[in-house]
Amino acid sequence: MNTPPPTTLPWEAAAELLRNARRVLLIAHVSPDGDALGSTLALTFALRNMGKHAVPTCQDQPHPRFGFLPGVHEVRQALPPGEHFDLIIALDSSDIARLGTIYQPEQHAALPLLVIDHHITNTAFGTVNVIDPSASSTAEIVFALLKHMGTPITPEIANALLTGVITDTQAFRTSNTTPQTLANAVELMRLGGNLQEITRQALVLRPFDSLRLLGAGLASAQLEERVAYAVIPQKLRAELGVREERGDGGLVGMLISAYEVDIAAVFVELPNGEVEVGLRAQPGFDVAQVAFEMGGGGHPAAAGCTLPGPLREAVNRLLPRLKQAARGR
Ligand code: 5GP
Ligand code: MN
Repeated sequence: MNTPPPTTLPWEAAAELLRNARRVLLIAHVSPDGDALGSTLALTFALRNMGKHAVPTCQDQPHPRFGFLPGVHEVRQALPPGEHFDLIIALDSSDIARLGTIYQPEQHAALPLLVIDHHITNTAFGTVNVIDPSASSTAEIVFALLKHMGTPITPEIANALLTGVITDTQAFRTSNTTPQTLANAVELMRLGGNLQEITRQALVLRPFDSLRLLGAGLASAQLEERVAYAVIPQKLRAELGVREERGDGGLVGMLISAYEVDIAAVFVELPNGEVEVGLRAQPGFDVAQVAFEMGGGGHPAAAGCTLPGPLREAVNRLLPRLKQAARGR
C-alpha cells in the first residue's frame, strides 16, 4: 500500500491543469457509485462554466437510482469517436484498472492525467495526484479544489457534490464523517444541494427485487469466528427473478451491523463467472489492506475486489485471510 499522502496536496498543480485544458475527458470508476458520479458531474459542470469542453464518462451505465441527478444521462459509456482531449481526469478511482474500457493507454498515455481520489489504497497513477484519504468522499476534494480556484459553485454543482458526500458517508453515519464533512454538507445545502431528495433517491429507495435478494442472502449467511459472509450465485438471482446482474442489494452492510461481526464479506458471482467481493469492517479493523492484496482496494472500513471464479474457490481463498484480519486488530 502507498505511504500516506503529503499533508499539503498539489492544489495549485491541479488548478493549473484545469485552467490550461480546453478539452477534458472525465472518467468515473466502473460500477459507479454516488461519489464517482457526483464528483464527475460536478467537475464537468464547473469546467463547462469555465468555457471548456468536458465529457463525463464511465464504462458502466449509472444505476437508475441516480436518475434524479441532473446530467447523469449525459455520462457516456464509450469514448466519443474521433474526439481529441488534452486532459484526462480520473475520479474516485484508486488504480488505473478502475477506469475500465474508457481509458485507452495507446491514445491516452501521452496526455496529462489528473487523479482525484480519497482511497488509502490509491496507487498515485496520475501526472498530478490529489489524494486525501481523510476526506469522506472524492466530492469533498473536488469541492475544496473548486474553492481553491475561486470557481462559482452553482446549485447543480452543489447538488452533485452533496450526492457524493451523502452516499459515501451513508448519510453521515460512517467513520469517515468528520466535522469538516458536516461543515461542507451545510455549505453545499445552502448552495442548493437537496439533502432530502438525495437521501431518499440514492440511499432509501430500492427495487423490490433487491429486498428478495437481501432476504435470501441473509438467510444463507454464515458466521465463522467473527467473520460473517454470504454468497450470491447467478442461479439465485435467476430463481428470485432479480433483474440486476450485479450488486448485493445492500447485504454486506446488513452483515456488518451484527454485534458478533467484526468483518463482513459478500461474494457475488458475475455473469462472466468472476466473483465481485464486497468487504466491510468494524472500526479498528482493516479490509482495505486485504482487498489491495487481492488486486482491489478501498477504505479500512469498506473495500472490494474482483476474484476469478468459481465462487467456492474465491471463498476458500479469501476467508482465511479475512479471519486473520479479524484476529489482528
Ligand atoms: P462497495 O462494496 O460499496 O462497492 O465498495 C466499497 C469501497 O471499495 C468503495 O470505496 C469502492 O470504490 C472500493 N472497491 C470496491 N470494489 C473494488 C475493486 O474491485 N477495486 C478497487 N480498487 N476498489 C474497489
Ligand atoms: Mn468515494
